[in-house]
Amino acid sequence: ASEVDQPRIQAAVREILAAIGEDVDRNGLVETPARVARMYAEICAGLHEVPAEHLTKVFEADHDEMVMVRDIPLYSLCEHHLLPFEGFASVVYEPRAAIVGLGTLATVVEVTARRPQLQERVGEMVAQALVTSGVASGALVLVSAIHGCVSYRGPKQRLTTVTVAAEGSLAEGTKRHEALLLAGGEDWV
Ligand code: ZN
Repeated sequence: ASEVDQPRIQAAVREILAAIGEDVDRNGLVETPARVARMYAEICAGLHEVPAEHLTKVFEADHDEMVMVRDIPLYSLCEHHLLPFEGFASVVYEPRAAIVGLGTLATVVEVTARRPQLQERVGEMVAQALVTSGVASGALVLVSAIHGCVSYRGPKQRLTTVTVAAEGSLAEGTKRHEALLLAGGEDWV
């Protein structure tokens, strides 16, 4: 993504290394700023994309029952610490007139995740994309993830955080309940 200023990241990474007391010119670190810059360009590329714009590959269907796609792998970057968090997103939606391809749904999750992010916002953005694009009348997204900032720091616990986001027809009532059960959130119903 050309929108990411890699030379600027390189300079900043050198500064961080110097600030922690490293010898920025030692062999093992010479290429690190450039490598980190390329990495950030890749893992933050979603910032310059609109998730709903990826919802073009849909299949017409006269299916109006809820559709569920469970355990889409998720890799993201916590916006509070810039440490990775990873887990799975399970997406339930009520189709309006179309079914979304599995790869498409995985792409929407990836685009929302590739930026400094909050776990709950991944779910909100995916659910909103499905509803605002007109693909679904409602969507519920359950995200479970393990956060680097929880595992590596403080008491270093490997805990799973679960968040739920819902939009439109699945936002409340019995449909929300049903969608949560489908998504595998039995414990949160
Ligand atoms: Zn964090």
